[in-house]
Amino acid sequence: MIDSDVLLKKLAILADAAKYDASCASSGAERRDSSATGGIGSTSGGMGICHSYAPDGRCISLLKILLTNFCLYECAYCVNRTSSNVARARFSIDEVVTLTMEFYKRNYIEGLFLSSGIIRSADYTMEQVVAVARKLRLEHRFAGYIHLKTIPEASPELLAEAGLYADRLSINVELPSEKSLNALAPEKNARSIDRSMQNLELGIREYKESKREARKQGNRKLTLPKFSPSGQSTQMIVGADAADDATILQRANGLYKRYRLKRVYYSAFSPIPDASSQLPLKPPPLMREHRLYQADWLLRFYGFSLDELTYRPESREQTGMLALDQDPKLAWALAHRELFPVDLNRADYETILRVPGIGVINARRLVKQRRIRALRFADLQRLRLPIQKVKSFVTVIDHKPTSHQLDNDQLAARFASSVDKQLSLF
Ligand code: SF4
Repeated sequence: MIDSDVLLKKLAILADAAKYDASCASSGAERRDSSATGGIGSTSGGMGICHSYAPDGRCISLLKILLTNFCLYECAYCVNRTSSNVARARFSIDEVVTLTMEFYKRNYIEGLFLSSGIIRSADYTMEQVVAVARKLRLEHRFAGYIHLKTIPEASPELLAEAGLYADRLSINVELPSEKSLNALAPEKNARSIDRSMQNLELGIREYKESKREARKQGNRKLTLPKFSPSGQSTQMIVGADAADDATILQRANGLYKRYRLKRVYYSAFSPIPDASSQLPLKPPPLMREHRLYQADWLLRFYGFSLDELTYRPESREQTGMLALDQDPKLAWALAHRELFPVDLNRADYETILRVPGIGVINARRLVKQRRIRALRFADLQRLRLPIQKVKSFVTVIDHKPTSHQLDNDQLAARFASSVDKQLSLF
């Protein structure tokens, strides 16, 4: 019998302790519905308490908790480290299962994000995390979304079993360099993190290949069971060490290439009580986190190189840092005004993608539309492009910015003053 007052007290502590983990978005979740299994839960549609948006616009709400915030490790940047003076709590396996099922039935959530401090050993902790997912899937036939945070030092067998039940697995790399990790998280090991990510990548790749093969053969029966069908992700803390943006993005780029990560999440370091003197006293500007996400996107989908994004025209050098007062694409365009305006009726897709205010979808639409007839200013309005931004950088048959408009030094200031301030999530 579970005491609901005790459970609520634990929930308050362990949901709060989980808020520092940014890597719980569920983008890319496969559609799954319990109507096929006779169980309960679904990853399709709906709105909830903790939102993540899939590429097709679906939104998945998650119960985001730690199994426990007791931890044997002493990561300097973490509020749950051994020496931290915080209230501690620990859920049993049944308590997490009950909470997930009850919250689901009340329509609060559509899935679970479960992480944990290290109790007894990496293997013991991972066994507990896997046991929650196993019970949900096999005993309760829960078909909702499950994201498990895995412990890189745990045995490969346990990580492999986690992949059978989870939609997504993640391992936090935490810091961009091995040197920083050794200094701030002495029990963690960059090599075992990489090794575990490599094992997960192999499992995910083999599953996807078997899925492709089954499709090719015309039969839907897979030769391998599902393995983390929504891939793997990771999180990097920004501003806890001295790493610049270029170092962070370089590490992220390597992870995307080597382990085909779905996402790298950037989480601005939050100062914690009784912090180590190795840590900065102040958090980095939240805008830095936001700029890293924008740059990450530009590197992956817009054909930009790292050097292009971190070049600062004022100082004519690579500073290794992104501008805070302008988004990285706009900063690049303002530093390369000689390449503008771009003629939207003639330029290739890659060049159009570099225009501030034009994203991947609209660049495709523009290229498609101009096959039918030449683009006019009204077409840009119809696509709801941010006209004030775009109009200084493009020409169409009835619009051409004057050279005065492009050369005007006030242009940069005008855009800088309109930068949105990012709000704190917590
Ligand atoms: S392993 Fe490190 S980061 Fe994770 S909960 Fe423990 S102290 Fe925090």
